[in-house]
Amino acid sequence: MKSPVERSPHPDNPRLLISFAHPDDEAFGMGGAIALYAQQGANISLICATNGDVGTVDPESMAGYQSIAELRLAELGCAAETLGIRRVITFGYRDSGMMGAPENDHPDCLWQADGDVVAGRIVHEIRQFRPQVVVTFDPFGGYGHPDHIYMHRATTRAFHAAGDPAQYPDQLAEGLEPYSPAKLYYTAFPRLPLRVWLWQVRLSGGDPRRMGKNQDLDLQAALDNRLPTHARLNIGAHRQTWDDAARCHASQQNPRESHGLLDRLLSRLIYRHQDFTRAWPQPNGRHHVEHDLFEGIR
Ligand SMILES: [Zn+2]
Repeated sequence: MKSPVERSPHPDNPRLLISFAHPDDEAFGMGGAIALYAQQGANISLICATNGDVGTVDPESMAGYQSIAELRLAELGCAAETLGIRRVITFGYRDSGMMGAPENDHPDCLWQADGDVVAGRIVHEIRQFRPQVVVTFDPFGGYGHPDHIYMHRATTRAFHAAGDPAQYPDQLAEGLEPYSPAKLYYTAFPRLPLRVWLWQVRLSGGDPRRMGKNQDLDLQAALDNRLPTHARLNIGAHRQTWDDAARCHASQQNPRESHGLLDRLLSRLIYRHQDFTRAWPQPNGRHHVEHDLFEGIR
């Protein structure tokens, strides 16, 4: 008998589009929420804009792979299957590296890509897949990564453009129709666990502004730039699937930090809830925290 995650969702089930930048954003960022919706039978499409070429990888992880991109896309395939993502679209841009790094200037990197073109590719996926809900990064890209910020901008723009027949009209000639998704959310670090984590890092003499295997995770900035929570999902029942998906990205775990920094993030700090900021429809000021991204549209 197949597990729920292995069952193909019915085409009429809710559709969720996740628009991210790197192979691992789906697993480290919101793996619990993806597992939750996959288990409920949602159709989930993932855009991964880069091949993660600039990630730091130990030589032993490279066995059997020609390039870091090939390795990381294989890890993405493993995580997507584990989480129950049926549709993965890769744009193939080069990873832009940390803000200010020389990789930002590489002509093939996402940071240098034409904004019209990238937004158009996202519009194409929105018109084809017709999701009710779209999720991307917040304006700060979670922790300031240029590729995250880029995908925030491109996805937000595409979200509002996809329903407008005057935008990207050549796609309509291909047979696609204008389509406006109902809701747009940004991922949000859970605030209290982030504070606890900062405190732990400082206590152990670490630098909270240079965390993670690629030393590009700035916890203090992540806290300072965090937006309000409008949706909080209880993903406690999906931790195992989430952990399994995170383990697919073995090349991005840091063995020098106990059990891997991101593993700790997953298992100790964000283990019960995942938070989201609702960008559209704009919150009306009433204090109401949703517990389902499809609330009001199911
Ligand atoms: Zn990323």
